[in-house]
Amino acid sequence: MYAVITGGAGFIGSHLAEALLARGDVVYVIDDLSTGTIRNIDHLKVNDRFHYIVDTIENVPVMAELVDRADIVFHLAAAVGVRLVVESPVRTIETNLRGTEIVLALAAKKQKPVFLASTSEVYGKSEHVPYSEDDDLLIGPPHVGRWSYACSKAMDEFLALAYWRERGLPVVIGRLFNTVGPRQTGRYGMVLPRFVQQALKGEPITVYGDGEQSRCFGYVEDVVQAIIRLMETPEAVGHVFNIGNDEEITINELARRVKALSNSTSQIVHVPYNQAFGEGFEDMRRRVPDLRKIRRTIGYEPRVGIDEIIRRVIEYERYHAPVSPPRWSFDRGNFYYYIILFSLFFITVSLKSVTSFPSGEQVFNHSRLSWLLSLILCALCILPCNAQQCCACLLHAYVCSCVCDSVCVCVVCDLQVLLITACPIPPACSRRRACDHHWFS
Ligand code: UDP
Repeated sequence: MYAVITGGAGFIGSHLAEALLARGDVVYVIDDLSTGTIRNIDHLKVNDRFHYIVDTIENVPVMAELVDRADIVFHLAAAVGVRLVVESPVRTIETNLRGTEIVLALAAKKQKPVFLASTSEVYGKSEHVPYSEDDDLLIGPPHVGRWSYACSKAMDEFLALAYWRERGLPVVIGRLFNTVGPRQTGRYGMVLPRFVQQALKGEPITVYGDGEQSRCFGYVEDVVQAIIRLMETPEAVGHVFNIGNDEEITINELARRVKALSNSTSQIVHVPYNQAFGEGFEDMRRRVPDLRKIRRTIGYEPRVGIDEIIRRVIEYERYHAPVSPPRWSFDRGNFYYYIILFSLFFITVSLKSVTSFPSGEQVFNHSRLSWLLSLILCALCILPCNAQQCCACLLHAYVCSCVCDSVCVCVVCDLQVLLITACPIPPACSRRRACDHHWFS
């Protein structure tokens, strides 16, 4: 089966890709790396059934081609994370509405089944727990940024169900409750990776509010299996399902368990919400899924409990998580180094000339000087120095440009670099051809 995963370089998307490859599918991932990262799918690149493209789902021709190839579409691309949502509401609303509109319209043309990842956020601040799929949604006022996320995802659900009713598009909607596991980043506010990172570094574990708010944490592999099984179940089509775990834990208790299981010396500190998110932030006290519907439909049972989840996240953060790249530092030595490096880089690029023929074919002309400068640049890039990470990034970008005249992504820091090519390899290079249409595989 050919599966397309939008947002496939994200935390949940990358686990889903892994599971689909394991069952023998061909997987196409599209991700603009806005919140996902290439590191999440690095280990999948060796599989020749795995393909990925760095692009936005709002690029309609690219999405159309992907949907054409697909037997099934998993639409996970969305702006997520409370911090991101609060700080960038425009991006949140636009990504969630426009992207979903495009995916659903294209899928409807070809009648390709779609899984839409929604969120427990849509229940808003309802205190009617456990939340059941048919409950009313209680979303707060528009001047509180957080609710824009809930509202935009609720609109996505309305649209998906409208496509099902009016155009017969087979859709299944999953409302994901606090999903956690290895590879989740704490950058956008998610609590578990943040607590684990703080505990491992011996920094204060920051509990927001009084910490007596509670959540239910679902393990990512359980969630991914539920998604796959729902898409294999014809009775699920046209329905909304809660997906997660119904074991409830307060954030205070979560902090205590993270501290104990990681043998950390960190203090647990309480930070007022307005300090963490600004004035007027609203949080929900409890969020518990009613799992009766998904249990009935696919016999779903979450397998991994909270302590085991915490242990796995600790193990990941301790041994496998990438080290963040050092910040640019402009002490004198580095400063001259960067100047030399970037001057050479731009001189090299400017020495290239590109001849375009009416047929659209492009020929890259390479002067001897540009060859020489390219080599010097490469040598400089691999010099061991404290600018090593940035050099590795530049080198990677440079090598990518030899392969593909498009956006390439640094494996070290995820910097996206647009290059027309400073590449000394002539265009006859067969790998360049393989990269037509900006495909990476
Ligand atoms: N939280 C916290 N400290 C943090 C991050 C989050 O106490 O560093 C709290 C947050 O206020 C919320 C809960 O942990 O009550 C879960 O937060 P998360 O952002 O993971 O998910 P949410 O359920 O809010 O979407």
